[in-house]
Parts: sequence; C-alpha cells; structure tokens
Amino acid sequence: VKCIGILTSGGDAPGMNAAIRAVTRSAIYNGMSVKGIYRGYKGLITDEIEDFKTQNVSNIIQRGGTILKTARCAEFKTPEGRKQAYDKLMEHGIDALVAIGGDGTLTGARIFAQEFNYPIVGLPGTIDNDLYGTDITIGYDTALNTIMECVDKIRDTATSHDRLFFIEVMGRDAGFLALNGAIASGAEAAIIPEISLEKDQLAEMIENGFRKSKNSSIVLVAESEVTGGAMGVAERVEREYPQFDVRVSILGHLQRGGSPTAQDRILATRMGVAAVDALLDDQRNVMMGIQNDEIVYVPFSKAIKNDKPINRELLNTLRISSI
Ligand code: ADP
Repeated sequence: VKCIGILTSGGDAPGMNAAIRAVTRSAIYNGMSVKGIYRGYKGLITDEIEDFKTQNVSNIIQRGGTILKTARCAEFKTPEGRKQAYDKLMEHGIDALVAIGGDGTLTGARIFAQEFNYPIVGLPGTIDNDLYGTDITIGYDTALNTIMECVDKIRDTATSHDRLFFIEVMGRDAGFLALNGAIASGAEAAIIPEISLEKDQLAEMIENGFRKSKNSSIVLVAESEVTGGAMGVAERVEREYPQFDVRVSILGHLQRGGSPTAQDRILATRMGVAAVDALLDDQRNVMMGIQNDEIVYVPFSKAIKNDKPINRELLNTLRISSI
C-alpha cells in the first residue's frame, strides 16, 4: 500500500477528527502518502480529494465534528455510483481506504470492497455504540457525558416543580446511551428498544411503586419506533396515569457535538494507528474494535450483521441504584 484515502461518512461523531489525525500521521510515519476525501462517499464520486500532510491534521484532536465533512450518498448504493467511486480511487492512485462511520458506512464499505476486491479498513465512528465486536465506538463516551450534563441540569428544574420528566436521547434503535446515561445521571429508569420488545417497561416501572418515595423523577427514553420516543411515552402516561405532571425534553443534535472526551480521543487515536497497521499487514474488510482494552479486527460482516446485545447487568444496576 502506497497511498491511503480517508473519509468520514454518515452521522458525525466527536473523535472523528482524532481518528483522521492518527490515520494520517501513522500512514506518513510508515512512508505512505495520504489523501483526504471530503463528504464521505459523495466526495469520492464528485472528486473532492486533497493531499494530506501532517499539518493538515494539526490542531484538530480537540475539535468535535469532522474536518473532512460527512454526507449521506444515495449514489453509492447503486453499482453505477460505486463504479464511479472506484474510478476516482484509481485516478488518484489511492490503493486502500480507511472509512470512518457507523453501520451504513461500513455496509457500503463491505459491498464496495467485495465488488472491486479493494482493501478497506473501517473505524467505528458513531455516538450510538451500536456496532458489534467492539466494546465502545468513537463518539459514544462524549455523547454519554453530554447527556449526563444535560440531565443534571434538567434535574434541577424537575425537583423544583415535582415533575416527571421523559428525556429522549439518541441511539437509532439501540439503548446504550439511554441505559448508561440513566445510570450516570442517577435517573429513575431507562426505556430502551431492546427491552420494549420483551415487556411493558412503563407499566412495570409504575407498578413497582415508581416515584412513591420521590417527588420528581427522570426517565431516559431511547429514540426508536419501538419505545415510541419520549413523546409517545409521555402521551401514554397522560392518558393512563393522569396523576403525574409530565414534561418532555428531546436532547437532539446537541448530543453529537462538543469536544471529544479523553477516552474518545485515545480510542480514536489507537484505532487510527491500528487501521494503518492492519493495512500494512494485508488485512482488509475489517473494522477496528476494542475488547477488554485490546485492539481487535472485526470482519465487516460481523460488525454490521449482528445486533450488539445490551449488558443485562446494567439493567439490574440501574434498578437497584434508583430505588
Ligand atoms: P452511518 O454510517 O452513520 O450508519 P448511514 O446509514 O447514513 O450512516 O450511511 C452512510 C452512507 O453509507 C450512506 O449515505 C451510503 O452512501 C452508504 N451506505 C449505507 N448503506 C449502504 C448500502 N447498503 N450499500 C451501499 N452503500 C451504503
């Protein structure tokens, strides 16, 4: 491998810049050249490609978002679009790609890599933590800390008014942010899609004497059709349990922003260096993961196909710690 291309795609996540920096510097350290591809697969097709030197990634480790920008790209889902992308890679002499993104990005990478027998290594960049084979993803810890800070603030007003707050957090059908966010912020409960499928979490919460001993309560709800989101849950409470004074807060995009935490910066840097090592080692079609603080290679097929399970011990921990 002589020239590596880097792109960020799909939803942005804090720590992506730290990953871009690490990939760039590690590739240059190993004698390769680097090209930054802007706006994900879209910029690959439309030729938004720039030579990257070590200075291109100076002073970015602390910045949220992604300097390479990101985009959704419908053309990349078609064989014609992917052929255009392949032609651009050839034109620029890019002979391997590091793709940073979530489930969609890695799905695209997997299809492309197979179609053209082209080496791609992926980095898990998503606040949702919903990729299988890695304990955590880049951006998750920062988002979790942001959620914790927001819930701390809402708690001040919730206790002043004796209110029941439903706070919706992101997760795209995964409950990691809601569950760990609830534990970290001392919330009473979390309503998450993984468990909504099994039982009526709201009914159980209220039957268990929820809020008997407390004047105000905070419940985190993962955004998802399965949970109904914070609005859906609140509407149900107003109908079925009108004794509660209910409020809803949807945290939204602020969860994506902000300077990455130390954990996210370190994770992104380790994974970025590991991605270049993996390419030098002729690895392809693998995502960098972290398990028990060791870097592991997870085949794309595993990372995207399997649903990452919620750790059940956390459910119990939240239940006990919120009595
Ligand atoms: P994320 O990577 O955060 O999950 P998306 O799901 O939006 O974000 O995916 C990002 C991009 O990856 C899409 O806009 C598209 O270009 C590409 N992609 C997603 N799914 C596929 C697919 N099945 N085939 C090819 N490309 C895909």
